Amino acid sequence: MKRILVTGGAGFIGSHLCERLLAEGNEVICVDNFYTGSKKNIEHLLDHHYFELIRHDITFPLYLEIDRIYNLACPASPIHYQRDPVFTIKTSVHGAINMLGLAKRTKARILQASTSEVYGNPQVHPQPESYWGHVNPIGTRACYDEGKRAAETLFFDYHRQHNVDIRVGRIFNTFGPRMAEDDGRVISNFIVQALRNVPITIYGDGSHTRSFCYVNDMVDGLIKMMNQEEIIGPVNIGNPDEISIKQLAEEIVRLTQSQSKIVYESLPSDDPMRRKPDVSLAQDKLAWKVNNHRLSGLRNTIDYFVKVLG
Ligand code: NAD
Ligand code: UDP
Repeated sequence: MKRILVTGGAGFIGSHLCERLLAEGNEVICVDNFYTGSKKNIEHLLDHHYFELIRHDITFPLYLEIDRIYNLACPASPIHYQRDPVFTIKTSVHGAINMLGLAKRTKARILQASTSEVYGNPQVHPQPESYWGHVNPIGTRACYDEGKRAAETLFFDYHRQHNVDIRVGRIFNTFGPRMAEDDGRVISNFIVQALRNVPITIYGDGSHTRSFCYVNDMVDGLIKMMNQEEIIGPVNIGNPDEISIKQLAEEIVRLTQSQSKIVYESLPSDDPMRRKPDVSLAQDKLAWKVNNHRLSGLRNTIDYFVKVLG
């Protein structure tokens, strides 16, 4: 049994991760300030003997005795991370410094939940880990993109300078149950709009692409990344099955048998035009592969939102 700290554990991916780590027989300490996360996401875990919840903001130091840290705390959807950009970059940078300091003192292994956003609006497609990215450092997404890039720098510097045992996973667009209804991300937006039979809002002309990974596969990838000894990263984790936003909208309308019409709104600034992970490293070094097709994941997510929306 390991004592594992999950920051951002009351969020979408974090809550699934806490659940899985408990099921695998670990003790889990979930730290969250509930900025975007919710007690609902973890309420089924509160009675678990080996689960502990601490309300804490990781931009402040934290003193615990732990064996492992998954650092997921950070608002992740554009509307949330742009609401208070200074807080977002502080969470990535000060949060990383605090969690790396904790890892250094306790000699815990620490995994950073990095992001495909480090590639910005990529000029290389699909994106391998060796690509340095194409990020606007002063744009409206920079608080998130550059914060995550700086966090990666901190991880590698703590590793080189202080010998901290790091892992860095670059997460690509992930979806599934427990995404927040008002999250603003494309899959939750489209499903909620479709179920309410209100217009589906495509930003831009819908020809831009993303590659969506079901949350169970993501959690699998993060745990495999943490538990192996061969590579510290960065390693891309995501589903390479690329789809245009227009095709995604049509797919969700079909699956929900919705009456919604598609409407087009302007594309937010710096919105990446294409994104698809090169997952060769994850396949070779982590023995990780996608197990859930987007369609089955969408069905589960639709079932979840049917319940949430009553
Ligand atoms: P989420 O918003 O659901 O979860 C983030 C959690 O962090 C929330 O519970 C929030 O309350 C908490 N949090 C935010 N700032 C905090 C702070 N200063 N102190 C303590 N807690 C704080 O988002 P998610 O989709 O679950 O994302 C989890 C992680 O994965 C994030 O680091 C995100 O950048 C990364 N990621 C997610 C995706 C995706 O598609 N979901 C893609 C790339 C990277
Ligand atoms: N998007 C959209 N309509 C929405 C929400 C998002 O067309 O209601 C677009 C968004 O502009 C982006 C893509 O869908 O091009 C994915 O957006 P999301 O916020 O989910 O992820 P990210 O842009 O961070 O990859």
